[in-house]
Amino acid sequence: MQSSKPMPFPQAIILTIGDELLLGETLDTNSAWIATKLHETGFKVLRRISVGDDQQAILQALQEESARTDLLIMTGGLGPTSDDITKTVLCDFFHTRLVLHESTLQHITSLLQQRGTPLLERNRAQALVPEGCTVLPNPRGTAPGLWFENMQRIWIALPGVPHEMKGLLEEEVLPRLKQKWPALQAIQHRYVLTYGQGESQVAERLVGFEASLPENIRLAYLPGNGLLKLRLSAADSHALQLLDDYHQQLIALLSDIVVGTENLPYELLIAQKLLTKKATLALAESCTGGYLAHLFTSHPGSSAYFTGSLVCYSPEVKVQWLNVPAEWIQQPGVVSEPVARAMAEGIRQKLHTDYALAITGWLGPDGGTPEAPVGTVWIAAAHQSQTLTRRHQLRGDRQRNLVLSATHALYLLDELIRQTS
Ligand code: ATP
Ligand code: MG
Repeated sequence: MQSSKPMPFPQAIILTIGDELLLGETLDTNSAWIATKLHETGFKVLRRISVGDDQQAILQALQEESARTDLLIMTGGLGPTSDDITKTVLCDFFHTRLVLHESTLQHITSLLQQRGTPLLERNRAQALVPEGCTVLPNPRGTAPGLWFENMQRIWIALPGVPHEMKGLLEEEVLPRLKQKWPALQAIQHRYVLTYGQGESQVAERLVGFEASLPENIRLAYLPGNGLLKLRLSAADSHALQLLDDYHQQLIALLSDIVVGTENLPYELLIAQKLLTKKATLALAESCTGGYLAHLFTSHPGSSAYFTGSLVCYSPEVKVQWLNVPAEWIQQPGVVSEPVARAMAEGIRQKLHTDYALAITGWLGPDGGTPEAPVGTVWIAAAHQSQTLTRRHQLRGDRQRNLVLSATHALYLLDELIRQTS
């Protein structure tokens, strides 16, 4: 028999350590990433705090925060340099001492051997760990993770280096936390990705749906990059059976704006469609300068559908390489429907692909013409059967316009793929 009362969510606090965080030299991406992962796993993240590489500040943070939470995860200060003092502070806090951890020493020795660097005393010191803690092996680096448990509370220290921290969290920490709090195993999420309407508009459409949700299913709005992700979360095993029904309801309610039903970046959802069709893609990028190509190629397996991108930034490159008629650069203008169309059709023919996507625009702050002022972007998506074109008027700064125009371009390609199935 399952208990009918769901367990409350365990609570977590994230403490990031490093002077560089306080100075703003390093953006504290660790705590944001950990918060997302913990939240997805079912934790309630109470707060994220940063302190400098300062013995007293770290100890004080540990003393003050520990009583408030079930879990405290800290990152940074486990390295080999004199400012890395987290372990010493942990010894003070837990009234323990540093002892040598043999297998960590072996790991450090062989890692440094592989790198061809000598084993210094300060590297050996990284194999010293507070007595009584559980050592979480770190295959990516020299500093292991440290796990402390006392009276139903857990403290975890992880290295500051983001990719080491992420590996440890996913491979060592989260599986152990799920064992510790079995209720977390029931946490599941379903996603819907939408394009074209803002969160207020979508929230307005979902008033009735939200009111119909049982207490143990939660809906979150996660806007970003010109898209809106909706996440449905089941908080216990009872809700799990209902989760798929509500997911289907949500998809049906928003069918006109849904572009994906999995938790994947938009370009990957499009990649899946291209792969299913065994179709290929080429790009001609002016204002995005290769950013779209970067999006596609950041994911493994992109060579199966992605052939290449021409960064045709100057008008001459558009004319020379894509056969855009030279006189069009003045009239109708380099940012215009005919030029975008010619770029897409030109690159498709050059690279012999099934689909092509092209973009030309003024991202600002300079540039623009009376017909195409700053923020104007023309996008074209070409297939042998037809070419779709669309104009967008963006109002952000250059960086935001770049990201938004890429999302609009992805959508136009998606639309063409749907129409040519
Ligand atoms: P190492 O063993 O490499 O010395 P460490 O645990 O001592 O790791 P730090 O020296 O504090 O970690 O940081 C290592 C690197 O990770 C630095 O480049 C730092 O900028 C980066 N880093 C540290 N903390 C964070 C954070 N909260 N968010 C993003 N990057 C971070
Ligand atoms: Mg540091």
